[in-house]
Amino acid sequence: MIDLDEQYLSGEHKELRAQLRKFIAAEIVPAAAAWENLGTLPHAVFARMGELGLLGVSMPEAFGGADFDTLGTVVFGEELGRSGFGGFMSAISDHADITAPVIKRNGTPEQLQRWLPDIIAGRRIAGLAVTEPGGGSDLVRMKTTAVRDGDHYVLNGQKTFITNALSGEIFVTVARTDPEAKGAAGFSLFVIEKGAPGFTTGAPFSKTGWSSSDMSDLFFDDFRVPAANLLGEEGRGFYLMMQGIENERLSIGAQCVGMAERAIEITLDHLKQRQAYRGTLWDLQVIRHDIARLVSELSAAKLLLYHAAVKKSRGESVRLEATMVKATLPELLKRVVDVCVQHHGASGYMRGTEIERLGRDARPHSLGGGASAVMLDEVAKLL
Ligand SMILES: Cc1cc2nc3c(=O)[nH]c(=O)nc-3n(C[C@H](O)[C@H](O)[C@H](O)COP(=O)(O)OP(=O)(O)OC[C@H]3O[C@@H](n4cnc5c(N)ncnc54)[C@H](O)[C@@H]3O)c2cc1C
Repeated sequence: MIDLDEQYLSGEHKELRAQLRKFIAAEIVPAAAAWENLGTLPHAVFARMGELGLLGVSMPEAFGGADFDTLGTVVFGEELGRSGFGGFMSAISDHADITAPVIKRNGTPEQLQRWLPDIIAGRRIAGLAVTEPGGGSDLVRMKTTAVRDGDHYVLNGQKTFITNALSGEIFVTVARTDPEAKGAAGFSLFVIEKGAPGFTTGAPFSKTGWSSSDMSDLFFDDFRVPAANLLGEEGRGFYLMMQGIENERLSIGAQCVGMAERAIEITLDHLKQRQAYRGTLWDLQVIRHDIARLVSELSAAKLLLYHAAVKKSRGESVRLEATMVKATLPELLKRVVDVCVQHHGASGYMRGTEIERLGRDARPHSLGGGASAVMLDEVAKLL
């Protein structure tokens, strides 16, 4: 596997990687199979990661974060992916890497003080609630409304497929505040908190993979949200959300690299010890070529990811590179795990093996956060 650490990472980045790898090996992997059966990530995991300073990698130091640049986000995503547990990865990344940054970028100093310390310490779990039954890829079809009423907004609508919906207490959501506005205009961002009347969740969804993160619907029925919870300027919610899209795409790309490298690693071990014919499976050229081809493609995609992260860390726009990463790595990950499962034979199809779980957990990245086809459309528009 291509190792870019010496070339691209500082001492602090490498320490972060070592800390994450040690923590995940010691405290996540031994316990995570039980959480898969539970269908959710225990709150204690968030609290423990908060205690170790692992939930605020890209957050300001003033609120308990470590203030890493985009390369720090890449290291974080890779190590979550390498855990081999997509449920753990998605619950944590949704909280720390997807939701918290929207608050960080758009919150007033009072809002940051109100929510970020709890999120970074893992005291309260967070999620991002955007998708609706009638508005997935085509987000401007969102129907949730927010109508100003004195010092509150009244929200009505439904969000669906929301990670951390059941364990979470704080969500960033999007609703239409201007019914006359067309297209992406007229939406606003809100931080909403569980506990007030009019905000309920549905039954847990039964997913094919990512089993240790919970998912459900959120329902808003005349749900009164204080005007103080409006995030950023009213009517510009869609644009404000899209401002973080580059980091989100790079973070997803990094998770794909981590998962793909892990899948290849365990497959190499398997192939080199599995006796067949007059040697091992690794002695068969067709198998070696399969793996060599995928490792070469993965290395090229990883270089694009690191190149984009370096540029982004310098403050430059990486819209094209980040979109290419999101268009490419989730699709490549699916091909990698498909070949890896195949070369494990029947054992790769048995519940309880790591490669079988990776076979299921490699699927969602090409759907969520912008489906691959949508990403390719966007790459084409930027050419
Ligand atoms: C495991 C998981 C976790 C998720 N977590 C969250 C969450 O925490 N918060 C949240 O808000 N949402 C979440 N989602 C929802 C996710 O963001 C949506 O599934 C995604 O945006 C796609 O929307 P959709 O499912 O409605 O598919 P649709 O929009 O109906 O699209 C279906 C398919 O049509 C194709 N397609 C769509 N548009 C185009 C196009 N322009 N050109 C060509 N083909 C196209 C693609 O193949 C696409 O997959 C999650 C989804 C999954 C699977």
